[in-house]
Amino acid sequence: MQQQAYEESRLYRLRHSAAHLMAQALTELYPGVKLAIGPPIENGFYYDVESPEPIREEDLPKIEQRMRELANLKQPIVRRVASNRQEARAIILSDCTLGQGEQTAEYKLELLEAVPEGEPISFYEQEAIDKQGRRRYFIDLCRGPHVESTAEVKHFKLMSVAGAYWRGDARNKMLTRLYGTAFETKEELEQYLHRLEEAKRRDHRILGRDLGLFLFSPRVGPGLPLWLPKGTVLREVLSDFLKEEQLRRGYLPVVTPHIASRRLYEKSGHIITFKEKMFPFMEDEEKETFILKPMNCPFHIEIYSSQMRSYRDLPIRLAEFGTVYRYEQSGELAGMLRVRGFTQDDSHLFVRPDQLLDEFKGVVDLMMTVLAKLGLREYRVRLGTRDEASDKYIGHPQNWEDAQTAIEQACRDLGLEYEVSPGDAAFYGPKLDLIVKDALGRDWQMGTVQVDYNLPERFELEYIGEDSKPHRPIMIHRAPFGSLERMIGLLTEHYAGAFPMWMAPVQAVVLPIADRHNEAAHALAEMLRGRGEFGGVRWQFSLPLRVSVDDRRESLNKKIRENQLQKVPVMLILGDRDLENGTVGVRHREHGDLGPKPLAEAVQTLVEELRS
Ligand SMILES: [Zn+2]
Ligand SMILES: [Zn+2]
Repeated sequence: MQQQAYEESRLYRLRHSAAHLMAQALTELYPGVKLAIGPPIENGFYYDVESPEPIREEDLPKIEQRMRELANLKQPIVRRVASNRQEARAIILSDCTLGQGEQTAEYKLELLEAVPEGEPISFYEQEAIDKQGRRRYFIDLCRGPHVESTAEVKHFKLMSVAGAYWRGDARNKMLTRLYGTAFETKEELEQYLHRLEEAKRRDHRILGRDLGLFLFSPRVGPGLPLWLPKGTVLREVLSDFLKEEQLRRGYLPVVTPHIASRRLYEKSGHIITFKEKMFPFMEDEEKETFILKPMNCPFHIEIYSSQMRSYRDLPIRLAEFGTVYRYEQSGELAGMLRVRGFTQDDSHLFVRPDQLLDEFKGVVDLMMTVLAKLGLREYRVRLGTRDEASDKYIGHPQNWEDAQTAIEQACRDLGLEYEVSPGDAAFYGPKLDLIVKDALGRDWQMGTVQVDYNLPERFELEYIGEDSKPHRPIMIHRAPFGSLERMIGLLTEHYAGAFPMWMAPVQAVVLPIADRHNEAAHALAEMLRGRGEFGGVRWQFSLPLRVSVDDRRESLNKKIRENQLQKVPVMLILGDRDLENGTVGVRHREHGDLGPKPLAEAVQTLVEELRS
């Protein structure tokens, strides 16, 4: 829907005209250049060309300069319709690229042939006489629409050069694709460029490596992250937080294996519905087939059905940080956002129909609590409902009705705005997706809650009701983080690696000024970890501080700089005068250099920061 609005916007026309303006500049700067196609795209435009001499990134300023000059000529952009194919052909051969005719018209002639019979064949031309009295002219086979004049193309920038096959087909010739962007105002252009810079600076793949969080190794395989010590601490901090929150809400922890017999997934139906995402199966000596776990649900169902359940036992909320493996296409792997092995903060709730509303509400409330704690304040939820016209959904219409009513009621009760997306439900029940906005205003699809009538049916799950008769429970699948991998990817970019104190893998680092202060520095760190005392002070907090000592033989300035780059929240600097006076130099990530502080006061500040 958004796409459509964009295609009808002035911005879309403006970018299309910018593409033509670039093409005109290219025909002047690279005589003999063959133009292929040049559409507007999501964040700008491009043009594919075949150039007699290579066009490189360093040529872009020169092309931009020529575009500016052409824009200043204020060429009117005029639509022309050829009365027939022959005339269109003649226009392309004569004028398309400044009368160079046949040699440069190859792609345009092919495009002309592709215009369906009976459709108008339109061209857009732009023309002006410059100060020297020369005719500057460009015409392009094009459906349009465009803005009125090249003078309107003011705020643009050429971004990059890439290769692209003609018609996207690897058997065809490789063309040069020039990317650019254009905006209505200078501010919008600058904001966009700034956002791009910021996004690059925050890229979790680069920060993940630079901050020592995780890495990918070709010897381990694509999409299989190795978690380094600092990343592992971050994982544990996040999962401990959620585990504690879940304990408070009556969840029961379980652990299940990483592989299971094929029979489990036959029963669950995943072997049919999820086969293409499963790693190749393995077979043991007794010819039993095993499958690497792509989902936790069937395991939790086995636990539920391992004993008779009464209506009084429900709801049962089984929770597991379950690692699953999915065979994603290697071309689709993207840092931590799409991996082949990841850990879901998974849980399955088995509930009675009369509990659905309250349980759903509990889950959504948990999600909101989690997001608030993580500092992700902007988010929206999308309710995926059934497409009434389709028959791919299983279960009684009444169930669907009830589930949807419960979800909507839950959102309303919690004051949560939601958008409805018909046809977005899973085939087994409606769902709620969480879309988080990060610090740059980008959307991240994160956690999800799904109501499921299918698996209880397939596994013939039951509980004995108050009427002593068997009833079928409803299942809720939920994962507030989505996965630890994805959540840490998001948080890394959201905070640009400067995690809040409670999350930071290293919360403080002690910097001895010279070798003779090393011993004291280590003793201070020990105390902050909750062992022993230093300078008569003891650590007074339930958790040890995550503190390290940087005792490398480097200058203090260099150590400060490098720990700044590591985004460590607090640096504690120890020198002769500090040891004499019972002080420590404090440098705070946000508040800067706070100078020497009495030891007890510095430690108290750390504790307060951890408490808040
Ligand atoms: Zn065009
Ligand atoms: Zn599940």
